[in-house]
Amino acid sequence: MKKDQLLTRRRVLIAGTGVVGAAATAGVLTRVTGDAPAGSVPAGGPQARSPLNSSAYRLQPLTGYAPPRAAPRRTLVRREPLLRLSGRGRTMVLTFDDGPDPRYTPAILDTLAAYDVRAMFFVCGEMAADHRELLARMADEGHVVGNHTWSHPLLTRLSRRQIHSEMARTSDVIEDAYGERPEWFRAPYGAWNRTAFRLGAELGMEPLAWTVDTLDWTAPGTRFIVDRVEDGAAPGVVVLSHDAGGDRSQSVRALRRYLPELLDSGYHVTVPRRDYA
Ligand code: ZN
Repeated sequence: MKKDQLLTRRRVLIAGTGVVGAAATAGVLTRVTGDAPAGSVPAGGPQARSPLNSSAYRLQPLTGYAPPRAAPRRTLVRREPLLRLSGRGRTMVLTFDDGPDPRYTPAILDTLAAYDVRAMFFVCGEMAADHRELLARMADEGHVVGNHTWSHPLLTRLSRRQIHSEMARTSDVIEDAYGERPEWFRAPYGAWNRTAFRLGAELGMEPLAWTVDTLDWTAPGTRFIVDRVEDGAAPGVVVLSHDAGGDRSQSVRALRRYLPELLDSGYHVTVPRRDYA
């Protein structure tokens, strides 16, 4: 990747992060239940920022470009994953796991773009390595990419060394294709253990689970998925869907239906941000 392209991606990404932070009072994450911090205890609270709307943030000048951090930021070691966001406002987060898959991910990105909405993609390293252009597009369009391991194993059956390899290789390919190391990770099948929490923290990532499982991986029908999202909609909810791992055409169609309905209901669909000093 040429450096100017990387700069452009980072610029968009930074801008996208800015609007999230401004709009999402709900960016404060709940369930800080960690034990000993890996480094120092993070400050945790959101930085004070003046609100920006989605058209204004693009006009913000880029004030600071910095190369990727040499070392991951200090991250609290948790005992359980984050399940939702806290804070004021009708904010929700949409997450898409297991991709990217060129059969479905572009259509999901198209829908998110049509509504000027940012989402999270928990990608698998082996998928990302084959479809780097989709991670580049996610960066261009301000989405957040998280680490969902390399090959989607059940982490609880792996050794510490294997878990580290699954996570670290994935962070490396994300950094290469997306332009930033991931700050979030999600265990396959939602199966976490203490080693996964600790290694995730060492790699600078927060564990994020979900509040509402659409069960889209069971191919239950588009209407079912839409109903799951709309019935589960509430401030701070994190929605789990999939853009890979099987036929995800129902997930693609469902998003086209529930996203405008969430927005019409007054929800702000966005991505969380981390605010660590
Ligand atoms: Zn998964």
